[in-house]
Amino acid sequence: MTRALFIVDVQNDFTEGGALGVDGGDAVATAITRHLRAHAGDYELIVASRDWHHADHDNGGHFADGEPNYVDTWPVHCVAETTGAEYDPELDTGAVTHHVKKGQGVPAYSLFEGTTDDGEAVADLLTRHGVVDVDVVGIATDYCVRASALDAIAHGRRVRVLTDLVAGVAASSSEAALAELAHAGAELVTSTDR
Ligand SMILES: [Zn+2]
Repeated sequence: MTRALFIVDVQNDFTEGGALGVDGGDAVATAITRHLRAHAGDYELIVASRDWHHADHDNGGHFADGEPNYVDTWPVHCVAETTGAEYDPELDTGAVTHHVKKGQGVPAYSLFEGTTDDGEAVADLLTRHGVVDVDVVGIATDYCVRASALDAIAHGRRVRVLTDLVAGVAASSSEAALAELAHAGAELVTSTDR
């Protein structure tokens, strides 16, 4: 059995103090680092994604022109090469095997919409390494974690969401996202129950 870990968008703009900071983001970054220290060796691939938008550009309507609706238009966030787009400092990326960037000029919620630094699509990377199982952690439960996990299922992988290693924008939409993922076939477990 060959397993990958997806670390979705644990970036300064999505943690406390960021442009779109979620409650619990820093704590999740710290907990993912703890998980990596104990379990990095369980994973053939450790893939970390970053939202990576163009500056001075609406990124396909993703950045609001006026008031954001927080559904499909957002405040400016994760502009390439800015502090907001960097990984949260609590996340130790030493064990990450592949860094994925997504959202250059377009909205991109799923890590499958991005590419590695070598320009490889994530689906191709998984296939090349024979990855069958994927654990998903990160931010935000109700947006990019949800989209990345659904895409992994759509690409035929067995998915677990480690529910103590995710943080969402809102409680109700995060609960709905986890229920949707379970319905779609994801297993919901904690990092200690795995
Ligand atoms: Zn974005």
